Amino acid sequence: MLNKVIISKQIRRADFLRFMSARQKRELLKQASYLMGKRVAHISAVADGGGVAEILTSLIPYLRSLGVESDWYFINPDVGKNFFEITNKIHNALQGALVKISGQEWVEYERVSKFIAAELDKIDCDILAINDPQLLLAGHYAHLNKHKIYFSHIDTSSVFKPAWKKLLPAIKFYHRIIFSNRDFVNGSLPRSKVKIFTPAIDPLASKQKIVPKKEARLYLKKYGGIPVRCPLIAQVSRFDIWKNPMGVIQSFRIVQNTYPGAHLALVGFNTAKDNPAASVVYKDIAAVAGKSRDIFLFFDPKGKDVMEFTVMAQNGADVIVQNSIKEGFGLVVTEAMWKRQPVLGGPASGIRKQIRNGKNGFLVKSPEEMAQRIIFLLSRPTERKRLGNSARKTVLENFLFPRLVLDHLKLYRSCLK
Ligand code: UDP
Repeated sequence: MLNKVIISKQIRRADFLRFMSARQKRELLKQASYLMGKRVAHISAVADGGGVAEILTSLIPYLRSLGVESDWYFINPDVGKNFFEITNKIHNALQGALVKISGQEWVEYERVSKFIAAELDKIDCDILAINDPQLLLAGHYAHLNKHKIYFSHIDTSSVFKPAWKKLLPAIKFYHRIIFSNRDFVNGSLPRSKVKIFTPAIDPLASKQKIVPKKEARLYLKKYGGIPVRCPLIAQVSRFDIWKNPMGVIQSFRIVQNTYPGAHLALVGFNTAKDNPAASVVYKDIAAVAGKSRDIFLFFDPKGKDVMEFTVMAQNGADVIVQNSIKEGFGLVVTEAMWKRQPVLGGPASGIRKQIRNGKNGFLVKSPEEMAQRIIFLLSRPTERKRLGNSARKTVLENFLFPRLVLDHLKLYRSCLK
């Protein structure tokens, strides 16, 4: 029921310590020294696709480079589509959707969670870190006498109460509960257990590389068919209702009145195995985009180097938008900002943590406003550059991985003390 992720990537401490101040470096090494000989196991729903997988791909090698033994396991996709359909509903309910989860579905969620818990019990570790609501109950059921941490990476600011009531006893059971944003902390949780970790991107990861725009556009032409010389607007996100791709198409149609040659790319490769709903959203979007030759949808990863394509879209677009309604944080926003792209962000709380309106990007509330800002950025390259430089600085100062690693070390230590 669980698979181990084999991580061969190794990183050298020196490479990331340079992103830290002298004080932070000392603190990091001190905290790491307290954890020598301890084992941490991170568990997530999938090993590929989405922000959690992105973070763990880097976190594990960082921890190992600091001498903290760490492993990562994910749910074997053979657990079945049914389980993922139910957990997808739970995920949506935690983000506030009014979804009906039947008694039978809860029973099935509990049944599979008990099987997964039995596998968790076999893992040799001092700290068990559960990273997704799919695994919430399994982590709760695990008997192993370890310190358990639940990382909630989603926006739980307005949970759908019936689902929350069912899960609350399990969540409360964890030794620590981590949210990405203070606004997501539900009042019924014991405050002493709650901590806030702002997510971050790994500056050493290939995903964060900066590519000259011309090169990126040639790549997108070769592998995606997008014309090289046209204004290009892009949203990079899984096809998910919360990311509101429909709203992006609406703004794009308005932009076309001013820029008839503009093109739109919605890049949302379907690599995650836990999101059967993505196909439904994709089909709806494809129906709306119809045969438009100026809208490019990227969903099926077959034959594509997903990481490289994503990097090229983030570097090659003239305007990056992220129109989410709900977003735990939105690493895609951070990634684009790191590449000096001023992002036009939707109303999601995670996005508001990153974008300062008019300073390093724009916050928009409607398709009309988004269109107006897209037109502004397309017609004002100097402004775009100014905002882009400021976006990069914001990430450098707030959202880089070494700080997140320090947060993790302190957390593990506080559990073990
Ligand atoms: N991503 C990607 N290709 C895609 C869509 C998404 O590589 O076609 C990556 C993206 O670069 C980011 C992660 O998936 O690293 C999405 O994380 P985010 O926090 O933005 O959203 P989540 O999917 O976790 O809701």
